[in-house]
Amino acid sequence: MDGNSATAIQNGFMKVRFLGTGTGVPSLHRLSSSCLLSMPEGSVLIDVGPSVVRRLLEFGFTLEDIDIILLTHFHPDHTADLATFLFACNYGEPRRTRDLVLLGGQGLELFFRRLCLAYPSIRPKSYSLTIRGMIRDVWSLWDGVTVETVPMRHRQESIAVKFKGKKTIVFTGDTDYSGDLVSFATGADLLVSECSFPDLKAKGHLNLAVLEKIVERAKPKQVILSHLYPEWETFRGVLHAPFLLAEDGLEISL
Ligand SMILES: [Zn+2]
Ligand SMILES: [Zn+2]
Repeated sequence: MDGNSATAIQNGFMKVRFLGTGTGVPSLHRLSSSCLLSMPEGSVLIDVGPSVVRRLLEFGFTLEDIDIILLTHFHPDHTADLATFLFACNYGEPRRTRDLVLLGGQGLELFFRRLCLAYPSIRPKSYSLTIRGMIRDVWSLWDGVTVETVPMRHRQESIAVKFKGKKTIVFTGDTDYSGDLVSFATGADLLVSECSFPDLKAKGHLNLAVLEKIVERAKPKQVILSHLYPEWETFRGVLHAPFLLAEDGLEISL
């Protein structure tokens, strides 16, 4: 862990580091969306798109720091570096020995089996891997920390995920408007939401107006917009609290 993470853990905070805030569109400014959630009990990597493994190193983490990888869905901008991660666990120096958990939505085990057919060398060699598909589910990760999932409207396996520890943090993954998301995010301390475009409304994604409608109903204390297409770079509007536009490297402590 880097110095900041160590401080967060001593203070008992939940901490979110935005490793990437972009999409599948290649960008020098934004990596594909991925977050690292660090808690005193352990660390969860939420989505692992292209170059996320390298980005972890840039921010001072190692792969051994990650206890859980959670995939919100299987699109490449959320999963392409999963094989990179697992391959490095087998052949890095030292080899991984720490247990790893892989969480995702419907069809996770099949997705993993197919990935292993393409890349047999990613099968765990020196550590134990637990794979758990979560559709509409709650699971106790550690003492006092639960993870909860609910299906979203993007791909059939898409899920939003809620971590409840000292605080409550919800990650939407990619999604269109969903009544389930409104109830799921109600009262959250932090909602990390996809907001693909400022104005354009694309099927399976949110724009600012639709996200505002969700936030008006769910009333999370803070909302951070991520999964940002290049249209955001020319956005000239002003976001008011509780909204904040994410940047790669942004850190939030709760
Ligand atoms: Zn995406
Ligand atoms: Zn997607």
